[in-house]
Formats: sequence, C-alpha cells, structure tokens
Amino acid sequence: MTDAKFVYSFGGGTADGKSEMKNLLGGKGANLAEMASLGIPVPAGFTLTTEVCTYYYDHDHTYPTTIDAEVDAAMAKVEEVMGTSFGDPNDPLLVSVRSGARSSMPGMMETVLNVGLCSATIPGLIAKTGNPRFVYDAYRRLIMMYSDVVMEKAAGVEPVEGQGIRQQLDRMLDDVKETNGYASDADISAEHLEDLANRFKAKVKEVLGKDFPDDPREQLWGGIGAVFSSWNGKRAISYRRIEAIPDDWGTAVNVQAMVFGNMGDDSATGVAFTRNPATGENLFYGEWLVNAQGEDVVAGTRTPNPLNEDTKNEQNEHLQSLQIAMPEVYEQLFGIRNQLEDHYADMQDIEFTIQDGRLWMLQTRVGKRTGTAALNMAMDMLSEGRIDKPTAILRVKPEQLDEMLHPIVDPAAEEAGELVAKGLPAGPGGARGQIVFSADDAVAWTKAGKTVLLVREETNPEDVEGMRAAVGILTGRGGMTSHAALVARGWGKCCIVGAGALEIDVLAKKIEVDGKVYTEGDVLTLNGTRGLVYAGELDMIDATENPRFVEFMALADDIRVLDVRTNADTPDDARTAIEFGAEGIGLFRTEHMFYGTGSEEPLFLLRKMIMSGSVSERRAALDELFPFVKRDMKATMEVMGERPVTIRLLDPPLHEFVPQSADERAKLASALDIDGSELDRRAEELHEMNPMMGHRGVRLGVTFPEISEMQIRAILEAAIELRQEGKMCFPEIMVPVTGMKAELDDQLEIAKTVHAEVCSKYGVDEVEHLYGTMIEIPRAALTADEIAESVQFFSFGTNDLTQMTFGFSRDDIGGFLSDYLDKKILPVDPFQVLDRNSVGVLVKTGIERGRSTRPNLKVGICGEHGGEPNSVEFCHLVGMNYVSCSPYRVPIARLAAAQAQINHPRS
Ligand code: PEP
Ligand code: MG
Repeated sequence: MTDAKFVYSFGGGTADGKSEMKNLLGGKGANLAEMASLGIPVPAGFTLTTEVCTYYYDHDHTYPTTIDAEVDAAMAKVEEVMGTSFGDPNDPLLVSVRSGARSSMPGMMETVLNVGLCSATIPGLIAKTGNPRFVYDAYRRLIMMYSDVVMEKAAGVEPVEGQGIRQQLDRMLDDVKETNGYASDADISAEHLEDLANRFKAKVKEVLGKDFPDDPREQLWGGIGAVFSSWNGKRAISYRRIEAIPDDWGTAVNVQAMVFGNMGDDSATGVAFTRNPATGENLFYGEWLVNAQGEDVVAGTRTPNPLNEDTKNEQNEHLQSLQIAMPEVYEQLFGIRNQLEDHYADMQDIEFTIQDGRLWMLQTRVGKRTGTAALNMAMDMLSEGRIDKPTAILRVKPEQLDEMLHPIVDPAAEEAGELVAKGLPAGPGGARGQIVFSADDAVAWTKAGKTVLLVREETNPEDVEGMRAAVGILTGRGGMTSHAALVARGWGKCCIVGAGALEIDVLAKKIEVDGKVYTEGDVLTLNGTRGLVYAGELDMIDATENPRFVEFMALADDIRVLDVRTNADTPDDARTAIEFGAEGIGLFRTEHMFYGTGSEEPLFLLRKMIMSGSVSERRAALDELFPFVKRDMKATMEVMGERPVTIRLLDPPLHEFVPQSADERAKLASALDIDGSELDRRAEELHEMNPMMGHRGVRLGVTFPEISEMQIRAILEAAIELRQEGKMCFPEIMVPVTGMKAELDDQLEIAKTVHAEVCSKYGVDEVEHLYGTMIEIPRAALTADEIAESVQFFSFGTNDLTQMTFGFSRDDIGGFLSDYLDKKILPVDPFQVLDRNSVGVLVKTGIERGRSTRPNLKVGICGEHGGEPNSVEFCHLVGMNYVSCSPYRVPIARLAAAQAQINHPRS
C-alpha cells in the first residue's frame, strides 16, 4: 500500500495520467490529463484517485497516510505552472474541488469553487486584479457552496424543508437584489457583496454553529472530504441505482487551479457539445454566458446565449453568439472542438472558461445523447470514416432504441392543438399526462397507476427519482445543457426546458400563462422534439420510419449470429413484430386467444370444456372450440409465412377461467345442462392451493389427452391448409411446463396419432413440423440429456425458471422486491435481468446436456429476458440459436445480439 500512487498531476503540457485511466482517475480526471498532454490549455491541477475514495469508505472516513505529502507535492506543481501559490497573501492561487466518477453522474455529487479565499488572501487578490467586486463575488460563492456542501450536507445536517443553509443564504442574496433594485447577480456592487459575505459568515455560524473556515488548507480538505462523502449522498445513490453503476466504484476528486469567467466583460463561461446531442446534427452546439461562472450556465438561472450563428433557435435568436462577441476565442474553441473529435472519434461534451480573453478548457467527456442522436452520429461518423461498423453498432445502447420505437405527437393533432408555450427541445418524442409539481408527487402518482408530467421551475439533482417516474418533464427555466436537459436526454425521455412564458408556482401547484391556469392533475401534451407544450391530450403516432434506423439495423443484422423472434399471439402483433424485424414467433401463447376482443365465444367454450364432467362432455366442448383455435393459429401462421411459428399447447391457470359472475355461471350451467350447485361443485374441484405449481401446462394434457389432441389437430390442419393454398408455414409444437421426458413421450404419442389422422384426411404423407418443449422447471434443465431424446428444440421459459429457481412467486414479488433492491440483497429484478449465477447455470447446463444427446438441438428463450440486452448477451454466450421477445423489443434484441457478437465473437 505504501508504494501506491494516490495523486496524479496534470497541466503545463504534461500529465501523469491519460484517458484510458478512467477507472482510477474518473472520467473527468482522465480526460483533463489527456487534454493537457494534447497541448490543449487546461488549468493545472491534480486528481485524488478513486482508490482514495474506496480507502476512505473502508477506513472509517480517513485517508492513506501518504496522502498529505502527495497532495502537497502536487499542489507545488500546480503553483509552479500557474505562477501563484495556494494561501499566498500577495498572489493567491485559488482552486476548485470537484467530483469525477468513472462514468458521469451529472449534478449528483458536490463541487466547491474558489477554495483558498480567506481574510489573508482577499486583499492580495484585490490588489492583483484591481477588482474588489469580482473578489467578493467569488468569496460569497465560496461561502454559499462550502457551507452547503461541506458544513451541512457532508456533516449530515438535515435541515427542515426550505431552511437549508444554501436556501437561507439565497434569500439573503435575493433581499439585497430587491432592496437595491439589482436586476441580476452581476449588478451587485462590491460593497454590497463584501457586506453580504460578512453577513453570510454570521449566518453560517448562527445556523450551523461553526465558523466558516478562514484557512485555505482547511477549506481544501473540507472540500475533498465533502466530495468523497457525496458519493454516498442520497441522490448519487439513487442515480447509481437507476443507471446500474456499482456502489464500489467510488469517485475521484479533482483539484484544479481556478480560472474565472466572471472577471468582467472579457470573461465568460460555457458548455458545448461537439455535435447536437438531441438530433446528432454535425454542428458545434453550445451555450455561454458573459461574466459568469460555470454553475450559472448549468443551473439554468440565466438563459444562456448560443455559441454560434448556425445553432440559434427560437428561444435564443435575439442573444449574441460567442462567434460574434469574441471571434478569435471562438475560432480557437472551434479548433479544439475539431481536435477533440479527431482524437476521441466521438461526440464530446466540453466545458470552457474565458478569463480576460484567454480560453481554458475545463472538461471534455463523451457526451450524453438521445437515442436518435446516437444513431445519427454513429452513421455519420461511419461515413466520415472516423469509426468502423462494429464501433458504430456499439455507439447506440440497445435501450436507446426504445425512444425511436415510441410514439411522437401526431403532427395533424398538433396542427389543431392549443399551443400553451414554447420551450427548448431538450429530450425528443412526445409525452402526455397529468401535471404534478414535485418529484415526490411524480413518484407517488406513477405508483398509483397515473401517467404524469413533472413540471418544475428548474430541476435540480434532487428531482431525479421524479424525473424518472414521469413520462415527460417541463421546466420554466434553464437551457439545453441544464440539469433537466442532461438527465432527460440520457434517458431518452421527452423533456422541454426553459418554457419562459409559463409562470410556474410549485407551492400553489399551478401554471399561469396568458391568463389561463393549469393546476395539478390537468393534462398537457409535450412535443419534446420541437419544444412545444399543448393543452389537453393530443394523439400520438409511431416514429419507426426513420431510414437511418433501417440502415443501422441492417448493419446490426449483418453482424449478429443470434436469431431474433417474437412472442406474439395475434396476426396484428405478428405484423408489428415483422416490421420490427422478427424472424419468427418463438412463443404463441394459445391461451391468449381467450382474452380481449373477440374472445367471448371461444372463452365460453373453453369454460364449458373446463367445467365438463366427463370425457364425452369435454370432447363435445372441444369439438366446438376447435374451429376457433384452428382459425386463430392459421391467421397468425399466415402472416408469418416462411418464418417459423412456435405454438405452445395450452398453459392456462384453470382457476382464472372459472366464471365469477352469477350471470355467466347460469349461462354455463345451462349450456352444460347441469344445475348451479353442480357447477359450483366442479368449480370448487378446480380450486388449487398453489396454481403456479398446480394442474397446468403438460399436466393438463396428461390428464386430459383430448385437449392436446384438439390443439395438435388444429395446428397441423391449419398448416396443411395453408400449404395447400400455396402458402409457406413452419409450425413448431411446443409442450409447456415439462419436468420429465416421460411427459413428452406421452404427448408425442398423441401428436403422432393426430399427425397420421390429419395426413390421411388431407391425403398427404407428412405435415412438416417440429416437436419441442419449454424448459422452465429446474428438473427439466438438469435432465435435459434425457429430454432431448424426445424433442427437436428447447425454448427456455425463464419466467417460470426464475420463479422456481429463486422460489419467488412471479405474481407476488412486487410486495418485497423494492426492499431487496434497497438493501442490495438483489442488484436487479431477476425477472427482468437473467440471473447468470443461478438461472443462467441451469440454462447453460440444459443446453450442454441437451446437445450432448442431440448435437443439432435448436435452442431459444421466450421468457421476458429475451428482450433485455444483458440477458440477450448471455443467450449469445451460451450458444442459443435465437431469442424471442415482445414485438417492441425486437430491435433492442437485434442490436444487443450484434453487440454481443462484437464483444464476444462466436462462429
Ligand atoms: C416462461 O415461463 O418464461 C414463459 C415464457 O411462459 P409463461 O410466461 O407463459 O409462463
Ligand atoms: Mg412459463
């Protein structure tokens, strides 16, 4: 441990670290090092590694013993490059202290700026800059941030709502502005700022019972500790949970020489993306503010100016661009933009500051983007020759496709809609819902089954859970790079920011605009692609006909080796799935024909069959049901054409089909020619203590062979008829809930007999089909070698397999899952993400044993995991032939399968 290096320096054209060292230095630190090495102007600084963070948590919030000396040595290097000294009364160096995890967590952790300002250094800085206003402004910002981040949050002080130290100081600042008629922070005089700083310190002492530290070193270490402890702050934890970032990664801390964008009208600060993060358009895109510090741009308290003329929009076209205001600096910045894109071959999100006309780069990182932008940029960079095909495929997260597959507001409905306001198009697509005004309400209403839009003046990181829960986000203030915009875009969520015309009153829970009032629960519609807010509920349409999307998916299809099928039970679903690229049906659940529209008659007949008291009664009911079953299977097979269709024999929870209403019962009793009490008795007989493990799946076919017989006949007759009509079809008969080979053999006998009868009825030798089974019971996976003797394919039913492996009821896990996730007993819901260590082992074993008997055994998955990217990768790794998922997840699975092949090639 003593030899370990905990602090890495950068600046002055060199660096200890580089961009590949993200795990150790965090994204920010690694990229600052990289930029410094590239000769890009970066204020000098140093990074305390993520290992220091892990040490800090493993050792009761203390540091490695060598850290003091390392920090002192690194600070000395910064002093040398910058030509100023930390704590020097004549020419003080000020530093920022910022977090920087491996993957960016925008706004989730803490920052302290202007560290090093104290009574000893203030006069020297005033003498040097000749600008007391600037110095006191920096000082009051330091007090505000430090008291909030270090003295309150990191110290674990939990103020009552509205009484946090930051809020109290903010109100004092507002008072000064109001009393003296200052329009903005930038107008406050030096004297008022000095007075405010003194009163701030008194307030801090009064509220928190401690003096604001007047020693630069104490400030520095306070800041470092606060950043480390913010790794385990509430909002950082909830962001990690949502983004699946492991808790043990830790954050690095970057200490860096301050440069000031608020030194006057020759100074500025800004944030930019090397391409448009919402659309992917290849235009340098960003926002800046003159005479301001970075937090002013991202906090959304002032509407920022556009970076250049090309990217002005309706909201900021009257504001001056950096290109016009400071042409030389803009040119230099544009050059750096190109240099960074050439170097990283990816869109970068950058922060810069201009101090007295001199440009400094404060950050570069791979920029978050919408799914649409990710896809457009990947295809552009491919054609620009910056990246190859596999890289292009890896540039889009499978989940991001979701937003392209989801609806947008119908343009015709917009035409006729009542426009309420315009804002910035921060997150694309459409969303409509009831408005709520707090993150907590967004979560609660969503839990209660409502669809909500979260409306805020501006969002801050504490709103993250609510933003996640809402289908769309609307704010009155802020720019495209404001917190709300960044977070929403990262999630591909519909979001409009900076809709300035809205007077949003979150306490009164209402919006006023043009004399109209919208209160909590009212419905609005957002067009996040154009930044338009409409009253009421507008129609939505699909956004799948994007030609780039088709091109991109074709690339993915060239690469992947896994086939992608769909779970579909109706011709409509089958058609949708084909549009999304499904190559077959992996699961046709026969019982679904008894739900929904048009199901009344078959449902009645099914009930009649279930409630039959004898084989002959049952056969009679089955004969009546037969044409419906055959018709439905045929219609779906016809849509699928030459693509295989796996039809699963009935797996109904019988008790669910027992009629409940007196009316229905009476009708059924009369159809069966029995009285009510006999029907009740038969219903009672069907009652099971544990239906999930009861008389379902193949067990039903074993007890009542005539049920399987009817279905197999329906499948084979439908197939023959389609063929005789000159159409292709490939049915695959699948037996559910199998545990033993003997069950399959029992059903296979029925299949053989029916096949012979059907062939003779239609005068053919054979009806082409496969015979297979679901593997969804651990015993089936473990005895797969025996089972494979009787079938040609396996389809893993990982819903039931997960249920039986964990012993978690599929239907009841909702009652305790959140506790398991909160307590980290489970990292994720195993019904969503296949648990490789348990269910995965059964799947792998099942495949290996199955193929040991039948090497060409076809294997797929049709549980919900078949459309979840991590699980799809697993299916690829264990050598499955296909995955099957719901139609809307087909493209996601196609992309995930291609990425799995790129990351883990398989022949
Ligand atoms: C499964 O168990 O994974 C499966 C696909 O079947 P069902 O969800 O219908 O039980
Ligand atoms: Mg199942």
